[in-house]
Amino acid sequence: MTDLNAEPAEATRPTGPAADDEAAAAAAQAAESPEAAPEAAFEAAPEALPGEDPEATEDAPASRPRRSRGMIVVICVLAVALLAAIAGGVWYYLQLQDAEDRIDEQQQQIDEQRDLIEQKETFGAAMDGLVESAAKFDGVLMASVVPWEDYHRLAVQSWVHRWDAAAMADDTEAVERAAAELESRWSAAQTQATTNTTGSTYESVIDRLSGGFVESKIEGAVQLCDADGGGDRDLLGCVISDDPYLVHFDSAANALPYMTDELRTGIAYHEFAHVLQFTNPVATADALEAFDGDNEVMADCFALTYLDGWKLDHRIWTSDYEYWDVNIGYGKTCTGPQQQAVRDWYGRLGVELKPISSGALT
Ligand SMILES: [Zn+2]
Repeated sequence: MTDLNAEPAEATRPTGPAADDEAAAAAAQAAESPEAAPEAAFEAAPEALPGEDPEATEDAPASRPRRSRGMIVVICVLAVALLAAIAGGVWYYLQLQDAEDRIDEQQQQIDEQRDLIEQKETFGAAMDGLVESAAKFDGVLMASVVPWEDYHRLAVQSWVHRWDAAAMADDTEAVERAAAELESRWSAAQTQATTNTTGSTYESVIDRLSGGFVESKIEGAVQLCDADGGGDRDLLGCVISDDPYLVHFDSAANALPYMTDELRTGIAYHEFAHVLQFTNPVATADALEAFDGDNEVMADCFALTYLDGWKLDHRIWTSDYEYWDVNIGYGKTCTGPQQQAVRDWYGRLGVELKPISSGALT
C-alpha cells in the first residue's frame, strides 16, 4: 500500500517547464504504450489546438468566395456553350435553308431548261410540218402563195426567243397557223379546180390556168376596176394587187351581144397574166424591161404567146348580115423578142421549195 501514499505528492507538483517535460515524456510514453495512448493524446491535443486554430480561422472565411466565382465561371461557361450551341443551330439552319433555296433554284433552272428543250422540239416539229405543207405547192405558178419570207422571219424570231419558252410557244403557234393556212388553201384549190360556180368560160379558163388557186367573179366590176378613173372606161375585167388571187370580170361586158367564148378565153388569159405579174414580182420586174414597163402590153403578149390563134382584133358576126369589129387589149401586138421575154418570164415563175433557216443557226 505504499504506492497509495505516494500518489498525492505527485498530484500537488506545480506546473512549469518541468511539467511540460513530464507531459512530453508522458506523451512519448503514451506513444510507446498502446494502453496509455488515449489519455496522452487527449491531453496533448489542447496544447496543439491553439497553434492550429488561427490558421484554421483564417482559411475558413476565404474558401466561400472561391466557390462562388467557380459557380459563376461554370455558369458563364455553360451560358457560352449554350449560346454557341444556339448559334451553331441557327447557322446550321441558315445553311440548310440556303442549300434548300439553291436546290429549288437549280430545280427551277432545270425545269426551265427542260421546258425550253421541249418548246424547241415542238417548234422544230411545227416547222417540219410547215415545210411539208409547202412542198405540195412545188411548181404552183403563183410564187407568193407560199410566203417564204414570212416563214424565214418566223425562224429568225424563234432564234431570238430561244431562251424564252413562252415566246417560243407563241412562235410555234404562228408556224402552226401558217401551216394550217397552206393546208386550207390547198384544199380550197382542189375544190375550185373541179367546180365552176359561175358556169362560165371565164372561170373554167382561170381554174385551168391557175390550178384552182385563183377565184373568178362575174360582177359589176367597172367601178371596182377603175376606181381611180371614175369607172368611165370600157373595162372587161381586172385584177387588184391587194388580192391577186381573184379575177373580177364585168357582168355587163359578159352580156354584150358580140361577147363570145373565144373573146372570154382571150380576156381570161390577159387577166391571168396580171395574176402572174402580181404574184411573181421579182421575175416580172425583169420581164417588164422588154415592154418598157407596160404591164398591159405584156399581158396582151402573154395571151398572144400562149393562146393559140389569139389576136387583138376580131370581127364578130352576130347574124348573117351584122358584125362587130372588136379590139381586145391595148392595141400593140408584141414582137418576137417580147414573146421570148414572156416565155423566159413564164419559165421562171412559180413556187420553188426553199430551206427555212433562221440565218443564225449556221
Ligand atoms: Zn389588163
